[in-house]
Formats: sequence, C-alpha cells, structure tokens
Amino acid sequence: MQRIFSGIQPSGIPQLGNYLGAIQNWVNLQADHECVFCLVDMHAITVWQEPEKLRHQTLTQAAILLASGIDAEKHILFNQSAVPAHARLAWIFNCVTRLGWLNRMTQFKDKAGKDRENHSAGLYVYPSLMAADILAYKATRVPVGEDQKQHLELTNDIAQKFNHDYGVSFFPEVEALIPPAAARVMSLRDGTKKMSKSDPSAQSRIEMTDDADAIALKIRRAKTDADVLPEDPAQLENRPEAKNLVTIYAALSDISITDVLAKHAGEGFGPFKQALTDVVVNAIAPIAQETKRLMQNEDHLLSVLRSGASRAQAIAEPIVSEAEKIVGFVK
Ligand code: ATP
Ligand code: MG
Repeated sequence: MQRIFSGIQPSGIPQLGNYLGAIQNWVNLQADHECVFCLVDMHAITVWQEPEKLRHQTLTQAAILLASGIDAEKHILFNQSAVPAHARLAWIFNCVTRLGWLNRMTQFKDKAGKDRENHSAGLYVYPSLMAADILAYKATRVPVGEDQKQHLELTNDIAQKFNHDYGVSFFPEVEALIPPAAARVMSLRDGTKKMSKSDPSAQSRIEMTDDADAIALKIRRAKTDADVLPEDPAQLENRPEAKNLVTIYAALSDISITDVLAKHAGEGFGPFKQALTDVVVNAIAPIAQETKRLMQNEDHLLSVLRSGASRAQAIAEPIVSEAEKIVGFVK
C-alpha cells in the first residue's frame, strides 16, 4: 500500500478551496492508502500568527478534518511541531536546496508581494520544510491543490540532489495527486486570485464553519459579470468569476461543467447564485455542525493529535536518523 502525506496550515479556518482541492481527496484516498495527515503549524508561523488563535485554529482544523470523514484511528492525524523529525530533516534540506531554486517559487512571490525584504526567512525556505514533511515518511503520493504543484516538483529536485550528492538512493520520487475538478478554487472577490484562508477579506472565501446565512451573503456579494450563463464551457474562458462559480457548483454536485451549463444556460447570476447557495449549504452544513460538536470536547481532540503524533514519530524517526547518518552526523 502506498503512503500518502498531506498537510494543511492552521493559518485560518479551512475554506472551500481546501475542501475541494485537498480534504475531499484525502477522505477518498483513505480506502487504499496508508495516510499521514498533518496540521502544519510550523508552516503557519512563516507569517505572523497570534499564539492563542494559532492554538484555536489548530484544534478547529482537527475537528473539521474529523467531521469531513478523516479516520484518525486507521490513519494518522497530528500537528507538525509535535514531531521533531520535520525540523531536523528540513535543516538538512535547507543545505541541499539551491537559492536559485527557491527564487523561482511563485508562492513566496505571491505571499511576500513587493515587500520581500520584510518577510521571514521561514517563508522563503517553506518549500524545503514541505519536502521534509513528505520525505520524513518516504511518502510517495501527495494529494494537493494545483497551487502546490511547483513545491512538489522542488521536493523531487531536493530528493534527487540529496541522493546524488551522497551517492545513495534513499529518498523516493513523489507524485502529486491533483483533483481533476476544482483543483484551484478562486477568490469570490477576484476571479484571478486563488481562494485562501489567510486572505485579509473574509468575503473572498467560504469557510467550512460558515452557516447558511453567511454562505448566502458571501455568494450574493460574489463578484460576477453582467452576462447570462453560456451553453458552451469554452465561453467561460474569459469570464474568471463566472467560471469559478460554475466550477464550484459542478465539483460540489459531482457533475461536469457541461452538465451545469446544460441546466442553467441563459440564466443570470441572480437565480444561479441562489441555486449555488443551496449546493454549498448542503455540502458544508453537516460538516460545520459536526465540527461544532467535536469542538465541545477539547480533551478528545488533544488525545487524537497526541496519538497521531506518537504514531507519526514512530515512522519518521528511523528515516530521519538514517538520513542524518548518511550526511555524516555522529549518532
Ligand atoms: P494560506 O492562505 O495560509 O496559504 P491556504 O488556503 O492556501 O492557506 P494551505 O494550508 O496553504 O491553504 O493549503 C492546504 C491545501 O489546500 C493544499 O493542498 C493546497 O494546495 C490546497 N488549496 C489551498 N487553496 C486552494 C484553492 N483555492 N483551490 C484548491 N486547492 C487549494
Ligand atoms: Mg496556501
């Protein structure tokens, strides 16, 4: 059975893009993979996090994953900082990664914007910590949204250079599992920007704990154009906002974009947004409700994470120890 590793940052409340791009895929992959799911709190602090909020968001995120159908008994769910192997391997990878490689990473450019000098070194070396997360488990498959594709290519570059420099074939090649539909859900305020849980505008995203009223309001206010929906999917190409709403509708109802358009062609956004609201509420409401219930028992969430961390540690420790030996560290 192949091993999967995937992570999500407790940098906010998970949004619809995280669900469609990652979490839904995680739930499905559990049937025939050994899965390691990680709340990557060390990644989250690459940009400023209020300590109390970070703690709360980590627990909320654990609850959302359980509510979405992650099985933390059969598989592993834990927070990154609880397993020191990640930091140890990340340091080795910082010394393998070339500056030129990191300079090409678009996530750093998007997050740092023009104010590059004023961002943390952690944000810059984010991809080598991500490579360490995956390779500390020798995971071979990584379900992610499309925005993380470049980081996974870098993970393979790092693994290859490590193997080459030290003359070993120690780290495996990893494969990105990117969902065919809704691999990149866009912001509700700007169809050219991806939906993000850390976007300053809460109106730009649907959060997995939003209630029906909040969802209806956000969708009603979502940016659109003045045209009606076309019949032909190709005609959505230059209409990023329209395309995004249709894509979300299709992904959540598990039908194709062509089928959505066959049903709604000729409609303006008033009625379509109403129909979309129903689809989103149907998908999210049960998860939000179960999350609320799980959040009432913090001790249970903490014990799930502790058990996950000790099982994660049992896998990662020997792998990272071996990598340290290969490097020449005295053990
Ligand atoms: P942040 O803004 O703090 O980076 P984020 O919303 O981008 O948060 P991450 O924790 O960075 O979320 O990513 C978790 C997973 O969700 C990754 O697999 C990522 O590819 C996926 N993902 C994030 N945003 C989207 C999106 N808009 N569409 C599809 N997948 C997404
Ligand atoms: Mg992100």
